[in-house]
Amino acid sequence: MPILGCAILPHSPMILDPNREGCPDGIREIHEGCKAVGQVVASWEPELVVFLTPHGISAPKSPRPGIYLTPSATGTAEQAGNWADYELAIQIDSEIATGFLNHLGSSGVACVKITGTEAPLAPSEIVPLWFLRGLSLLKRAPRFMLLSLPTPIGGTSIIRSESSKERVPDMLMYGSHLHKYLSWLSHRVAIVLSGDLAHTHATACKVPMYLPNPEWKMPVSDAAAVFDAIVEKWASTLNGDFITRDAAALVKQAISCAFDGLVVLQAIMEKEGTSKFSRHIFARHRPTYVGMIAAVFQVDKRVPCPEFSYTPPVLSE
Ligand SMILES: [Zn+2]
Repeated sequence: MPILGCAILPHSPMILDPNREGCPDGIREIHEGCKAVGQVVASWEPELVVFLTPHGISAPKSPRPGIYLTPSATGTAEQAGNWADYELAIQIDSEIATGFLNHLGSSGVACVKITGTEAPLAPSEIVPLWFLRGLSLLKRAPRFMLLSLPTPIGGTSIIRSESSKERVPDMLMYGSHLHKYLSWLSHRVAIVLSGDLAHTHATACKVPMYLPNPEWKMPVSDAAAVFDAIVEKWASTLNGDFITRDAAALVKQAISCAFDGLVVLQAIMEKEGTSKFSRHIFARHRPTYVGMIAAVFQVDKRVPCPEFSYTPPVLSE
């Protein structure tokens, strides 16, 4: 079957360049953590990367999961005029995606099909893919199965988080369908979740490019720090209660686009056997309003790439 491991990468474009002037504290830490995740995932030499995104701009706003059936997908990390030069494309395995679509259909789960010659990608996909770009240098570069998680009508992280708790049973079910389908494949598989933690941290930062779009009217909540700490606790234990009970109780206030995908990862790793996965949290921080975590869960407990070693960056005061 072989699931080689799972990974979580955040997707705020602010983490792409830690060398910008006035860059808030924590960006470099997350940036380095994401680089480490990218190196570990590449060292697994996967043949297929299952990439879960909570947004997926080309899917109509729909409460159904989306499956990309286009041969490729491309886009930039452009947000409000910044980060436009981060551009890349991925190759999608549309045969494997069609197989998953059929599997979901026969299980009574309706999906949104994203068809055409090339699907557009948004920063929510491009940012994590940027840290995974080492995959394209492998002798056999993997193809992707790109899946957008259900988004309630209206689509923003605030709207998503209002109903995230009610979607837990659906997401657990979706994760077990995905696990079952992957178990029928002979490919070596890596599963990567794109997502940010709580969006409601208080921050003293005043630079617009590091802050939420004012139109989102993002509130500040005491739940943010607690939510992020609970997710880290889950990531270091894989005890599902931390996600499906404790984080679920706070997600509405914390506002997190990663939550639904974390439930899916929990379901997949539970089906596979959580004890098989070693857990590595490379970074967790909240540079401004949004919390982020860079982590991998690896089936083989050995360090997969002996020359790889992660040294935390030295932060300037
Ligand atoms: Zn997001």
